[in-house]
Amino acid sequence: MERKYHIIVIGAGHAGCEASLACARLGLKTLIITLNVDSIARMSCNPAIGGIAKGQMVREIDALGGEMGKITDRAGLQFKTLNKSRGPAVWSPRAQCDKWLYSTLMSKSLQNQLNLDILQSEVTSLIVRNNKVCGVKILTNEIINAEAVIVATGTFLRGVIHLGKIHFNGGRFNEHQASYLSKSLTEDCGIKLGRFKTTTPPRINATSIDYSKILKQYGDEKPVPFSHFTEIEKWRKNLKQLSCWLTYTNKTTHRIVSDNLALSSINIGEVGSKSPRYCPAIEEKIERYPEKTSHHIFVEPEGYNTNEVYLNGLYTGLPFNLQQQMINSILGLENARVIRYGYAIEYDYSDPLQIKKTLETKTVENLFLSGQINGTTGYEEAASQGFIAGINAGLKILNTPPLILGRNESYIGILIDDITTKGMDEPYRMFTSRAEYRLSIRNDNADLRLMDTGRLIGLISDKVYEKFELYRNTLTHTYEGKRENLPTNDDLSPWSFEKINEEIYIYKKYRGYIEIQNKMANKVKKNEERRIPENFDYNKIESLSAETKQRLLKIRPQTMGQASRIHAIKPSDIAILTICLEKQRKEKKQRY
Ligand SMILES: Cc1cc2nc3c(=O)[nH]c(=O)nc-3n(C[C@H](O)[C@H](O)[C@H](O)COP(=O)(O)OP(=O)(O)OC[C@H]3O[C@@H](n4cnc5c(N)ncnc54)[C@H](O)[C@@H]3O)c2cc1C
Repeated sequence: MERKYHIIVIGAGHAGCEASLACARLGLKTLIITLNVDSIARMSCNPAIGGIAKGQMVREIDALGGEMGKITDRAGLQFKTLNKSRGPAVWSPRAQCDKWLYSTLMSKSLQNQLNLDILQSEVTSLIVRNNKVCGVKILTNEIINAEAVIVATGTFLRGVIHLGKIHFNGGRFNEHQASYLSKSLTEDCGIKLGRFKTTTPPRINATSIDYSKILKQYGDEKPVPFSHFTEIEKWRKNLKQLSCWLTYTNKTTHRIVSDNLALSSINIGEVGSKSPRYCPAIEEKIERYPEKTSHHIFVEPEGYNTNEVYLNGLYTGLPFNLQQQMINSILGLENARVIRYGYAIEYDYSDPLQIKKTLETKTVENLFLSGQINGTTGYEEAASQGFIAGINAGLKILNTPPLILGRNESYIGILIDDITTKGMDEPYRMFTSRAEYRLSIRNDNADLRLMDTGRLIGLISDKVYEKFELYRNTLTHTYEGKRENLPTNDDLSPWSFEKINEEIYIYKKYRGYIEIQNKMANKVKKNEERRIPENFDYNKIESLSAETKQRLLKIRPQTMGQASRIHAIKPSDIAILTICLEKQRKEKKQRY
């Protein structure tokens, strides 16, 4: 009997998990296919969620009804709000996690989800008819039909691992690469693929570290959970925070690295592809900043029940014997023993200029791409895209308008606008500096910005929404100084007066700036919302240069706002385009 689903998600990494949960929660019959069910939501690199700008995205996913924040609160072993000494626009929550627990809990969420099936297999090709995807073929040659497919294959497409001079195929260490799907994406779907690379540091045994020589890094005394739905007091009481530690590289470490640059898979050119500029290998840091004699190395536990420790900052593609030498040159790590070596990985990605803002491909209808396959790096960037792809695939099947978040309302909106408008020639990660209105889109107000949208889509339940409304009303009343008939903390839970007071403090202190930003955002919004028809014929506009036409045709912006952000598009081009669109609109009106 032929199997048929509404939606198939390929890959159970951070993108695939959010995508599949969103689809199933919209009531659609969903199947998630992944190479290895033991590695669902595996943290391939750093066992941490959040951080600068990334923490904001996790809060946004949560406010819209996604999973990442909830799981992080249950799997986190140290919570910190970064940048607390600066303004609230850049306060960013981060949690060091128990990576095994995170994976287990996410796996359970998928298993417990109504409408969601899980299958361990490799998708070898996509079935496409009349430029519309209608299913997938798996390794056993079985065809599974679906109305939409979301590809979330991470670093696995033709993945190659490099450890110094040793090279072998793999999607992650000890996991095989996805060998076939790239060919189908190219030949059946017309998607052009490129190559990117990234590195991960070695992990060492905690029992071999001399902790007396390195600096203890505590979690926050009053930690704040990621999820709006976590009951803060109860959670704080049960949370057992572990410490992280800090040490530094030194001249000897740098000499070992620079003497052996030729042996690194980063530098000898065998990994010809680009790596994330903001997460460089130690080889790249030492080459780029020769004047620096030391770099931070954060020593971070990987879980409650393991002695494995992650060396954050020591990303490397050096051969294994040199990794050991390099580690032993660092204070406190003189006798450290490696459990896993660091390595570099190279993989196929698709330039996101080939997808729309809904994350649906421009070439094949109902085919969506999300996560690292779109050239981004990071769990949070992946989860954000997976979540939006899941929602939009679902909404399309339900014949409902798509969800496109604005740059003025979320980091997720910025991420998607950036990658689909500017494309990329190096892996993309999120920063607060990418946000024009960052004082308005803070981590603390993600619920106020987005929970109505989550509710509208159908991912926020009645019960939760009622609580949110109580919180919002209480916030307004408290701000206005109306103190009578206020609910108790218990009534408000999982929201609280602690949160209300923080919100009011920020608003009062920064009101002037926030209002200016909101005004600017509203002005831009008008242009942002002016839609350009999908088949608009730019070639007919004589006053546009050939180069401008080419750029517009390549990206096919969906709105005037998006058009204005395309590289090398001038304000005069936008003025011409506005006149032509207006003219076309009037002509159309006269015809009917
Ligand atoms: C070595 C390494 C180093 C990294 N370093 C960093 C870093 O420094 N900083 C950073 O932010 N991020 C880093 N990352 C990236 C981070 O792991 C990813 O950004 C994130 O995991 C991407 O999530 P994803 O869901 O897109 O893909 P992944 O988490 O990679 O998940 C992909 C999933 O797809 C499945 N899959 C793939 N192909 C198929 C197929 N054909 N059929 C069925 N299932 C399939 C896999 O089994 C897997 O479950 C690193 C990753 C690796 C591997």
